[in-house]
Amino acid sequence: MMRIMPGAMLGVVGGGQLGRMFVQAAQQMGYLVTVLDSATDSPAGPIANDFICADFADQSALEKLATRCAAITTEFENIPADSLRRLAKSCRVSPDADSVAIAQNRVLEKQFLVNSGFAVAPFAIIARHEDIFTIEMADLLPGILKVSQFGYDGKGQKTVADQAQLIAAYAHLNHPVCVLEKFMPLKYEISVVVARGSDGDIKTFPVSENQHANGILDISVVPARIPQQLAQQAQAIACQVVERLNYQGVLCVEFFVLQNDELLINEIAPRPHNSGHYSINACITSQFEQQVRSLCGLPLGETTQHSAAAMVNLLGELWQYGEPNWNLVLRHSFAKLHLYGKAEARPGRKMGHFTVLSASTEVALQQALHIKKQLHHSHMQS
Ligand code: ADP
Ligand code: MG
Repeated sequence: MMRIMPGAMLGVVGGGQLGRMFVQAAQQMGYLVTVLDSATDSPAGPIANDFICADFADQSALEKLATRCAAITTEFENIPADSLRRLAKSCRVSPDADSVAIAQNRVLEKQFLVNSGFAVAPFAIIARHEDIFTIEMADLLPGILKVSQFGYDGKGQKTVADQAQLIAAYAHLNHPVCVLEKFMPLKYEISVVVARGSDGDIKTFPVSENQHANGILDISVVPARIPQQLAQQAQAIACQVVERLNYQGVLCVEFFVLQNDELLINEIAPRPHNSGHYSINACITSQFEQQVRSLCGLPLGETTQHSAAAMVNLLGELWQYGEPNWNLVLRHSFAKLHLYGKAEARPGRKMGHFTVLSASTEVALQQALHIKKQLHHSHMQS
């Protein structure tokens, strides 16, 4: 595949924080970037070289993007796959529409994973109210009912203990197609960001150990404090996933680790991932530079981690009493602050993150937790 060299214009569909970090990585390497998003005040739009403000399905906007750009990627799995298909008619696009279509729909995703032989939690598809009474429920309760599309950060999910709760949850979620998944007793959650280049070369990043709060990623500790063999197994599975999809670009595989160390795939994201943000500061190549490299047909960068890392998400509730006191992060010479430029801080909204680097995972985590506590504590006093 022809290499797209620095100086060329790249496009990204979606202007969120992942788009912003893609823009930053691309610009650092000398590329120009056009962002397409429907919000005028997106995190990525204002720092892009060019910004197209339009809906993801707007045909003339897509045409404009394809005309301007040498290659186009995406940062958001919920863009219509048809938009990517349309762009791909006249422009290099990665990831491809088919992979995105699978990852954006829990039913297609589960079917792909099961058909490919990957282990997942027991589940059943509920496509209409009547299905609640025909599925084999005994093995799925207590469970979690998840909408098939447009869920994120734990939204569009409800835990259910019995049939009555399932009926209520299905009505409440008000989404025609849902997946009922058995609630698994997790030892921990891990994820692997993997990239596949245009030449079929595959590189995985080190395994992240992820702690969630209220269904939203809270902290990632990397490398995960798990047996090496388990980490290698997770990385091998991530490689199989991108191979099986014939994927080009960056993808994240989220895993559940069961009590007996069995690995299940929770879900896949066809893009860089929140749990991979540590790579910006702790690896030779970040997940966003890797996205640029695979998109442009460059050789993938080395993913070796040079420092242990703990990443903490900064959610909107931290702004409850005004702008947090960033000195509490900045005074640490091993802490890296990332803010996404979002004007409005809503509870649960990802506003930024910080990463603490150290020689040891334990120290990185301890210091990150300390800073996190101070940030939360400081605004309670003001
Ligand atoms: P999202 O698209 O919001 O990330 P996920 O399906 O990854 O949705 O669920 C968010 C979080 O909820 C998971 O990371 C995990 O902590 C918890 N969770 C989801 N499904 C299960 C399950 N079947 N068993 C136990 N915990 C789960
Ligand atoms: Mg998830």
